[in-house]
Amino acid sequence: MTSAPVNLLDLDAAGLARYFATIGERPFRATQIIRWAHQQGVVDVARMTNLSRALRERLSAEAEFRAPEVVTLQESEDGTLKWLLRVDRGNCIEMVFIPEAERGTLCVSSQVGCPLNCSFCATAKQGFSRNLSTAEIIGQVWVAARHLGQNPKTHRHITNVVMMGMGEPLLNFEQVVPAMRLMMDDNAYNLGRRRVTLSTAGLVPGIDRLREECPVSLAVSLHAPNDALRDELVPLNRTYPLAELMAACNRYLANSPHDQITFEYVMLAGVNDDLALARQLARLLRGVPAKINLIPFNPIADADYQCSSHEVISQFREILVRAGYVTTTRKTRGDDIDAACGQLVGRVHAKAARHRRESAAATR
Ligand code: SAH
Repeated sequence: MTSAPVNLLDLDAAGLARYFATIGERPFRATQIIRWAHQQGVVDVARMTNLSRALRERLSAEAEFRAPEVVTLQESEDGTLKWLLRVDRGNCIEMVFIPEAERGTLCVSSQVGCPLNCSFCATAKQGFSRNLSTAEIIGQVWVAARHLGQNPKTHRHITNVVMMGMGEPLLNFEQVVPAMRLMMDDNAYNLGRRRVTLSTAGLVPGIDRLREECPVSLAVSLHAPNDALRDELVPLNRTYPLAELMAACNRYLANSPHDQITFEYVMLAGVNDDLALARQLARLLRGVPAKINLIPFNPIADADYQCSSHEVISQFREILVRAGYVTTTRKTRGDDIDAACGQLVGRVHAKAARHRRESAAATR
């Protein structure tokens, strides 16, 4: 009888130690495997020379290292890279690397599609298929690190990871957390918890659980300063309205690696960019140490929104700055290859019709 091989990319240090215990091996094997796979990029067991021959044979027989498979890699004029990665026969996800002078940010997906149905997001229009496994999440970092390691002159290496690709990471907590632990593991990618950011549309119980179990940097996709407008743009708000979300953000600060939460606000002309809303936003955030990141809306198919004008964005920002908030406007990167925020689509074999997804999101 042959059972399915264990994918060793699914396991963080604790998971690997447990696995080795079940096959009668010592816990330090976990460190050796993590260094080979994640630090050296070596997943051929035959090359893992510090493992005994017997263990190598056993792992070859019953384990594997399976990362998503690269389908295409596109490079933007500004150097941004976008991968299309196959995760199973029907589904592909996207991942983006954004090189800047001082850092290299990898934007990683957490789900195939997304069930939250935010009105302005291309991923939402694709529907939702399934959660990604830990191997499929950390496997994205593995794929990018290997590519960048082989092209050190043209591309920087990964200094930051943002869980801002396709999907809502807090709806896939069990798989996302071990992947983030590997990002931070000294023997793997060694990123400090200030350099790993999880972005959420506002799943309150997930924010609380993250605070307890894996408090990385937190970004919240706010997009509106009152419930009526936010209910429209981010339907999850009907389940977790602003008062509850703000309270969860405040609780998070007790364990956060930063003294403030980052709030993202997509700029939609005539929808959420009235200057009165900037003042309302300043009032809303008065009780929460906050940094604000304004995101120029990136056009997507099937949505009537326009991006706010440059002038409106700078006036909106000015109001927030004068109210005392550090406010940045996100530079649009990679839009010539549809790699900008909210433009990631992959190839999603959706399981649920859009109206069913809406009700699911509202009751979660
Ligand atoms: N579900 C998580 C992770 C996705 S992060 C979250 O909502 O935070 C992707 C970011 O891009 C979010 O802030 C999202 O609201 C924003 N976004 C979505 N569509 C966009 C678009 N068309 N233009 C600009 N930003 C967009």
